[in-house]
Amino acid sequence: MLMKSDFSYIDENLKRIQYNINEALAKYRKSEDKVRLMAVTKTVPYEAVNYSISKGINLLGENRVQEYQSKRDFYDNSAEVHIIGHLQTNKVKYIINSVSMIQSVDSIRLAKEIDRLAGENNKTMDILCEVNIGKEESKSGVLPENAFEFVESLGEFKNIRVCGLMAIPPAEDSEKFLSEMYDLYLDISDKKSDNINMDILSVGMTGDYVNAIKYGSTLVRIGSGLFGARVYK
Ligand SMILES: *Cc1c(COP(=O)(O)O)cnc(C)c1O
Repeated sequence: MLMKSDFSYIDENLKRIQYNINEALAKYRKSEDKVRLMAVTKTVPYEAVNYSISKGINLLGENRVQEYQSKRDFYDNSAEVHIIGHLQTNKVKYIINSVSMIQSVDSIRLAKEIDRLAGENNKTMDILCEVNIGKEESKSGVLPENAFEFVESLGEFKNIRVCGLMAIPPAEDSEKFLSEMYDLYLDISDKKSDNINMDILSVGMTGDYVNAIKYGSTLVRIGSGLFGARVYK
């Protein structure tokens, strides 16, 4: 019988994911390259999240502010938290002091509010620019052709540090979009703008993380592959 507290499936999933990451790194990347593994927690009970932290996960990805608020007091606080879902401007105040990065910045309006609240709280907030690489109507993010200009304007905010790019490529034809995303990342990196770091390329989820590593990913965001299929409430 599977007890509620039996999280051994997470051990197996984590081992397999780490094996695959290392194999992809060895196959496709330079020996000094590293990929960080994020556990994406949407719909996952905090007990399972804490179990994954006890097994070495040190980075959590949160999609929904309200769900995060209901769980964060129960999380083992040894893991860092990044916001990865679409963030409404009026919700920045709820997360500004409990996350170390906002990966889903895609408007100046949102950046302004992050900058303002970061300033009020005497901090610099790390952010990524989200790119809608597949130009899908259902997804957020700036269009790839506008990404450089957008990133440059983010560089002007005093309390924001731009650290790279994030994307959710379409599931269909994902390799083509991963490759386009990598080109865009290299392109913007080459331009070396003031106040812009391009250290992080956050691409790759359960279905495409091996290919994402092939195309330069430095951070993969895994949900269902680690915690099992999501049951939507
Ligand atoms: C849900 C989600 C993920 C993880 O998706 P899986 O396919 O379950 O690994 C990664 N990134 C974002 C932005 C997500 O919303």
